[in-house]
Amino acid sequence: MSEKIKMKNPIVEMDGDEMTRVLWRWVKELLLSPHVDLNTEYYDLGLAKREETSDRVTAEAAEATLRHGVAVKCATITPNEERVKEYGLSQMWKSPNGTIRSILDGTVFRAPILVRGIVPYIPTWTKPITIARHAYGDVYRNVELPACAGRRAELVLTGGGAPEERVTIHEFDGGGVVRGVHNTDGSIASFARACFSYALDTKQDLWFSAKDTISKTYDRRFRDIFESVFDAEYKEAFSNAGITYFYTLIDDLVARVMRSEGGFIWACKNYDGDVMSDMVAAAYGSLAMMTSALVSPKGAFEYEAAHGTVQRHYYKYQNGEPTSTNPVATIFAWSGALRKRGETDGSPELADFADRLERASLDTIESGVMTGDLYALSTLPNKRLAGTEAFLRAVAQRLEASRP
Ligand code: NAP
Ligand code: MG
Repeated sequence: MSEKIKMKNPIVEMDGDEMTRVLWRWVKELLLSPHVDLNTEYYDLGLAKREETSDRVTAEAAEATLRHGVAVKCATITPNEERVKEYGLSQMWKSPNGTIRSILDGTVFRAPILVRGIVPYIPTWTKPITIARHAYGDVYRNVELPACAGRRAELVLTGGGAPEERVTIHEFDGGGVVRGVHNTDGSIASFARACFSYALDTKQDLWFSAKDTISKTYDRRFRDIFESVFDAEYKEAFSNAGITYFYTLIDDLVARVMRSEGGFIWACKNYDGDVMSDMVAAAYGSLAMMTSALVSPKGAFEYEAAHGTVQRHYYKYQNGEPTSTNPVATIFAWSGALRKRGETDGSPELADFADRLERASLDTIESGVMTGDLYALSTLPNKRLAGTEAFLRAVAQRLEASRP
């Protein structure tokens, strides 16, 4: 029996809630601990602990991520009124992901995991399409007013030591509505840097789009900032890595995406990303096969599954009923974090373990053993339905066989 892989520096480990908390324990027990001498700084983001610490634990975990550079996160409950009752909460604590994102100031990259037997609804998409969504401003920070006949809407800028500027938006001769939106150069530049860094990190082309033919100042600003950040900081690295950045109009890009084979990062303005990420996720088949990475311009990476805590399965699990919950996105969150740790620590055996872990998971599914969500979609003639634990044990067996 060979030695376990050692980790030089820790990963920040954020535990979570419900069925994914159960998966978390099993993944560590069956897949990670037999091979890796896990070195993690553990934060329990389960709802009970957030309540007990008045949610300080979430901020502490985010701060630790800035210190150590790599984190892996389990899905967590974002409380609503029902959850406040269910868990006897003193407050409706904020979404942990929102808290973490605001501390790391990051961009979220969502990428599907492709596997043989699950055919995307767009059959030409044979490689993953990663969506990066700008998470600040535009219509998500807007101000809106209804207007009635006779009102005049104006855009006014004051202060800042400059003369007042005033332009008419519209003079209403009937009822209508007005909206004011904004963004900041700082946020756009951070978004651009996160996209360029992630493209280099994953060696994929970066596509970006806006509507600057119509929005000649607002959308044009996005295009210009992307271009100047690229020229000043990334052009050479892109050329060395053999990848490209290209900008085009959103309508043109949408048409190109549909005709593409995938294998690139699509950087989206806030609203475009909201809409397109759901379209792309649905086209690839299963929410349980979607990963998510938060890349901070402060040099930190956090990996997680894109799905939630799978509450319905958890209630079955609690009742002692069999479950068939797909752990693949959770496994890939761990492999993403371990690979990144291996790369930053100069530890190729850790990065190699991450590759083998992913391969073992995909090979298991491609051999026909899969959880219910995939069983319903798979075109494999020999597919067999596995429970959560049976699936994990099948992956563990393949992983064991892949020891170097
Ligand atoms: P969800 O946990 O993503 O699950 C929605 C449905 O999708 C499930 O009921 C299940 O369908 C299917 N599904 C999702 N992941 C699956 C998996 N790994 N394997 C098999 N099927 C899977 O969303 P939700 O039920 O709306 O939310 C539950 C909790 O998660 C909420 O409290 C929410 O706040 C939280 N949440 C957290 C995050 C995060 O931490 N990143 C993200 C989203 C939601 P079937 O029931 O049909 O089998
Ligand atoms: Mg959406």
